[in-house]
Formats: sequence, C-alpha cells, structure tokens
Amino acid sequence: MKLKKIKENDGKITFKLRNSSPAMANAIRRISMNHIPVLAIEDVGIIKNSSPVFDETVAQRLGQVPLDFDAEKFVPREDCDCEEGCMNCEVRFSLESKGPGTVYSGEIKCESEEVKPLHDKIPITELDEGQEIELEATANVSTGDDHSKHQAAISSYQYYPIIEIDQDELSEDEKKRCVEVCPKDVFKLKDGELTVSNEEKCDLCKECVEDIDNEGLIVTGDEERFIFKVESISSLDPKDILQKTVEILRERADKVIEKLG
Ligand SMILES: [Zn+2]
Repeated sequence: MKLKKIKENDGKITFKLRNSSPAMANAIRRISMNHIPVLAIEDVGIIKNSSPVFDETVAQRLGQVPLDFDAEKFVPREDCDCEEGCMNCEVRFSLESKGPGTVYSGEIKCESEEVKPLHDKIPITELDEGQEIELEATANVSTGDDHSKHQAAISSYQYYPIIEIDQDELSEDEKKRCVEVCPKDVFKLKDGELTVSNEEKCDLCKECVEDIDNEGLIVTGDEERFIFKVESISSLDPKDILQKTVEILRERADKVIEKLG
C-alpha cells in the first residue's frame, strides 16, 4: 500500500492510494471518519438559563462546537486508570453570560489553557435584557462511532480512472464530443488526436462513453488504485488524521497476526 499526496488545502487532503484493495480503501475511510479520538463537550450542567433556548438544545449546541486540543494528551475515559475523571480523560468548561446579546462559543471558558473552541462565532443562544445563562460542562475524547460530535473527518474515495482511447476507432466528430461532454475537462484534442490531460479529475461519470457509444473509448475504475479525500471537521489536521488512521490499521493487523499465533 502506497500513499501519494495530490493536494492539500483548507483542512482537506487529496491523495492517491496505490497497491491497495477496495476493502482496504473502505477501512481507511471508516477509521479516518469514526475511529480517531476527538474531544467534544459531553455533559452539561445548567445552573441558570432564562434564554428562549431549551437546556437540551444548549447542551446539544455546545457538543457541536469543535474544540482545539492536543490529541496526544487525552485518553478516552474507559481507557483511563482513574475512577471519576481526571485531567488525562476530561476537561471542564464554564459559561456565564448576561443579556442583551448573542452568546457565542468564544465565551466558553476552559479550565485548561491548552483547550479552547476552534471557532469563536458559533451562536449558542440569544439573551434579552435581564436574561442570563450559567452552566458548567465536561468534555471527553471519544470517536465518531460513539457520536457524530466526535467525528474527526469526512472521507471519501473513488477508483482511479483508467481511460483507454483507440484513435483509429473514433471519428473526428466523436473525439470532439468527448471534449465537449466531459464535465471535468479531462480530454484534449490536438491535431486529430484525443488525449487525456487531466486524468485525476475524471470521476468516472462516463458521460463520454454513453454519449459516443463506441468501443474505441473505454473508461473503467482501477480496483488497486484510489483517489482519496479526507476533510477534517474537527481541530485535527487532515495529515494527522491520516497518520493516526494508518497507526490504527497497523495495530489491528498486528492483533490479527497475534491471534494466528
Ligand atoms: Zn482519568
């Protein structure tokens, strides 16, 4: 299995996966989305809430606020040696605000200086003159399997395109049609020759194949190569998510080998 980066920007990484299989691609997708520990607010204790938003909704909104945290420092509570929660498995927050105005995620205070909301402008509730909110909350690390608020990323993949062109089989007109109908600008026509200029953009929609319906053009997906996208929806860097995914895969493979004795 080999990985090669195609591009990386705005919390998103696109890469090529080679010498692999659909089962492996699917495992990478699932692990990167749902098996990487992410810190999120779990328990909320409302002390005062005279805002128009119900306590449960406030708690739900707090859970959805992505938190900036050091992934190396926290362990899931069930893996921690403590009995009732400690600084290795949980972190406490408080929020106190008086109206009038919107209460934003930036007002959430954390007992640890190393943890804070990733974005300051996520609205939690609205307060009128005289209304107030006061609460305490605890965050834990867990995975997307447990709850979507702990999901690290959105990941997807497609088979790598194989585009075969038989220049002699295709008429000039059909070659022109290929260039015209492709929504991804994959083809180029020069001196009567149809070539592929943008292979990685092909998403196997096969509009070209359906349009010209000629055996001189075959588009298939390679079952050993994939184009993969991992977009972080947590504070974790997509490269770190990928790194962790590979580590988890390795651990699992080791366990299987151990069992084989
Ligand atoms: Zn603990």
